[in-house]
Amino acid sequence: MKPVRAKKKLGQHFLKDLNIAKKIADLLDFKEFNTVLEIGPGMGVLTQFIVEKKKSLNLIEIDLESVEYLKKTFSSLETNIIEGDFLKIDLLQIFKKEPFAIIGNFPFNISTQIVFKTLEHRNQIPFFAGMFQKEVAERICEPPGSKKYGILSVLAQLFYETSYLFTVPPNVFNPPPKVDSAVLKMVRKDDFSLNCDEVLLFKIVKLSFQQRRKTLRNSLKTFNISDNMREDPIFGLRPEKLSGKDFIQLTKRIGHGNISN
Ligand code: SAH
Repeated sequence: MKPVRAKKKLGQHFLKDLNIAKKIADLLDFKEFNTVLEIGPGMGVLTQFIVEKKKSLNLIEIDLESVEYLKKTFSSLETNIIEGDFLKIDLLQIFKKEPFAIIGNFPFNISTQIVFKTLEHRNQIPFFAGMFQKEVAERICEPPGSKKYGILSVLAQLFYETSYLFTVPPNVFNPPPKVDSAVLKMVRKDDFSLNCDEVLLFKIVKLSFQQRRKTLRNSLKTFNISDNMREDPIFGLRPEKLSGKDFIQLTKRIGHGNISN
């Protein structure tokens, strides 16, 4: 299989190492789901190990050549092969209300968008695992206080227990990416309801990190925060110090217009 230059924009880095492919497939534990969606299966290196699990499998692949190969190789009653763009497909139409897991050696060019779409559909997605470029995997898993901790970390960790599993060097891919990669998993929390105004929370997280060097007092000026509320020490902090739970508390207080409740 020769890598095609024109396809660079599809984030194609095919995995050559079968051990790593198997390790990723083996992360699936089928406790809370019986259905799997693999994003960007390419030439099926990971797919072959997922198929062995004999569960209902959906593949979404944007590249026609790969789709044709997948259809020839993996067509079966349990495997549904969709030609399309993960970011554009209607997940509700495919899965109805059924829970499903997401897995993949993902297209790196759309990694953060894949995570954001997963978070939007978290009610149906109890489990997510796969490979991203290392820097994105780190951002998803980083705890508060670190330089890499940001919007993606807060939002992913609000709903999921995220774990950075292992680093993967460029030479196991064809063509090799310029950076290291990493495998991670996200297991949805038992209680993943926020009990606060979600739209407001997302706005607060975004605004706070847009100017991550400033204190919350400065970044959140646009909200109607009373003088009394402004005194609270939390407003003297920079956003990277706040956990998801802290952001929920902050949202509740700003929403109620009273920080001392
Ligand atoms: N999983 C395979 C391929 C990884 S490369 C392997 O490990 O070898 C990433 C794959 O994602 C490519 O096959 C690419 O065509 C596909 N892809 C890129 N953008 C996509 C999108 N928006 N939706 C679905 N698949 C996509």
